[in-house]
Amino acid sequence: MQFRDLPKQYEVLKEKIDAAMIEVASSARFISGPQVKELEQALAEYVGVKHCITCANGTDAITIAMRVWGVGKGDAIFVPDFTFFSSGECPAEEDGTPIYVDVDENTYNLDPVKLEEAVKKVIAEGKYNAKAVVAVDLFGLPADYLAIKEVCDKYGLLLLEDGAQGFGGSIGGKLACSFGDISTTSFFPAKPLGCYGDGGAIFTDNDEWAILIRSLCVHGKDTGNLNDPNAKYNNIRLGFNSRLDTLQAAILLPKFKAFVDYELADINKVAGWYTDGLKDTGLVLPIIKDGFYSSWAQYTIQLPEGVDRTAVQAKLKEADIPSMVYYPKPMHQQGAFAGTDSAIADCHVTERLCATVLSLPLDPYKTKEEIDFVVAVMKKALV
Ligand SMILES: *Cc1c(COP(=O)(O)O)cnc(C)c1O
Repeated sequence: MQFRDLPKQYEVLKEKIDAAMIEVASSARFISGPQVKELEQALAEYVGVKHCITCANGTDAITIAMRVWGVGKGDAIFVPDFTFFSSGECPAEEDGTPIYVDVDENTYNLDPVKLEEAVKKVIAEGKYNAKAVVAVDLFGLPADYLAIKEVCDKYGLLLLEDGAQGFGGSIGGKLACSFGDISTTSFFPAKPLGCYGDGGAIFTDNDEWAILIRSLCVHGKDTGNLNDPNAKYNNIRLGFNSRLDTLQAAILLPKFKAFVDYELADINKVAGWYTDGLKDTGLVLPIIKDGFYSSWAQYTIQLPEGVDRTAVQAKLKEADIPSMVYYPKPMHQQGAFAGTDSAIADCHVTERLCATVLSLPLDPYKTKEEIDFVVAVMKKALV
């Protein structure tokens, strides 16, 4: 069994994706071809945000947002302790100090009460300037933005939505990647909307920031005057070489259509089969609160404490069922932060989750029979 069946998805979309790739090859417009603009317009319209600027990957997207806000030495950036490394790596890369905050044990997302406590503590200590929050839509579920925004407004913090895993999710019909002052996503192949390599995008309603982001993505060039043919070689700031390849944009266009037309609904159906099948097993299952909609980047369960996770994974593997541990280590314990103030954190929920979580195979193309099989093997592995 595939953990996320990308070969199957390709089989279904092959004709459209092949045609899209060949079109780019024959046009030879590999950089900034028309498909890039078309994709940006389609994504901005779908998310309901004024500007979408694509870039090379989801990590660059976060770093560029930090650069736009001038994050630097002395700035505290509040980041959930339970996330992929980039969420904290990027603020630290810009010389900010990530302050790791514990997550909610049911949603796996930033705990707004603990966020406020952490912000108050930083302000009281006075060593750092409380600057911004990076909230993550972990495993496809949007973070609790109503409560998080309240904290941001109260203390004057900027909000970045790291929607690398959250694209397609929503709260009360408002889509992921529209909640941050700047929001970012990733098109890494295994994400809810993936391309065939690395890719990312940045979303914002702010016109000034959008111009700055476009400039930063292309070596800090002067994007304020695109009619000037020499503007391309007029570099007014230091930037990055961070563009989405035309080839990836062309692949994403038919994949985005399938995502909106049926994949998102189908993956919710498949996740529902797990939740039905695994209830009353002693496992803690994902909880989607009223009004929230997940794009199910992962189906992540918690094993009862004391159950040997490695043994469970081995039993699944014997039945040809892959499983993954997202994530085995809290951010504040990562070696990259050893000896820094980022290593000081009070995150017991994250520590427990890192020891008990397990992600099961999931994609929109899984059949009821496949999920029933995983459920049956899982139940046997637990006794
Ligand atoms: C994947 C991921 C990223 C980074 O995206 P890349 O495109 O791989 O650089 C950032 N944040 C989170 C939460 C992710 O899952």
